[in-house]
Amino acid sequence: MKGVPFIVSAPSGAGKTTLCKKAVAFFPGLRHSISYTTRPPRAGEVNGEDYRFIENSEFDRMVEAGEFLEYAGVHGKRYGTSRKDLLDLLEKGIDVILDIDVQGAEKTRGRLLGGVYIFILPPSVEACEERLKTRAKDSPEEIKKRLKIALDEIKKAPEYQYIIINDDLGTAFEKLKSIIISEKARSQRMMGKVKELFGVDKV
Ligand code: ADP
Ligand code: 5GP
Repeated sequence: MKGVPFIVSAPSGAGKTTLCKKAVAFFPGLRHSISYTTRPPRAGEVNGEDYRFIENSEFDRMVEAGEFLEYAGVHGKRYGTSRKDLLDLLEKGIDVILDIDVQGAEKTRGRLLGGVYIFILPPSVEACEERLKTRAKDSPEEIKKRLKIALDEIKKAPEYQYIIINDDLGTAFEKLKSIIISEKARSQRMMGKVKELFGVDKV
């Protein structure tokens, strides 16, 4: 049985990283797709765990070699998903959560079969700003830049299959868990197991 790709987008500060980390800690069969980026690490971020931090020249090389399933420029830095890293996990039957921006998500639509698209919204733009300030990992200029594009990103929310408003974190996480559990139980994804258990593969 192949793994399921869960594509999660949100404006910066909505709580996407927090929710994705909680999901990976909760579901044993779920991994986070580790993106490549030219952005410098924030305090506490670990190379190879949060991101693979690379130089612009290495990013160019990967683009030239066709190694990215998708890549995009976000807030003036570059981010990309390695095709091989992702497909290797999915082939092994591991579910993968891809925390990528709206441009990247759009590109995966034609390239990734069976993706589940989830958009995380903050309860308000003010809450987003407050959270970015409390996170205290980006400069005031960087926060301004991120909030400026938040509304354009939010306009893309209707293109996603699910929308979660992350007001109370516990409630938002319950919703994310429910989506993952329900999607995994879809009959087309269960047929491999049904065949294994009962030898039935056609309805
Ligand atoms: P994103 O990855 O979407 O940019 P983060 O997950 O880094 O956002 O969250 C931004 C900040 O908001 C972090 O400090 C995080 O702890 C906090 N946060 C996340 N969800 C909530 C919530 N529901 N209520 C209050 N603060 C939250
Ligand atoms: P941050 O710098 O806050 O970690 O991430 C900035 C934005 O880049 C977020 O919207 C995040 O989802 C997005 N992002 C992270 N990795 C990737 C990726 O591999 N591809 C794309 N397209 N966006 C990414």
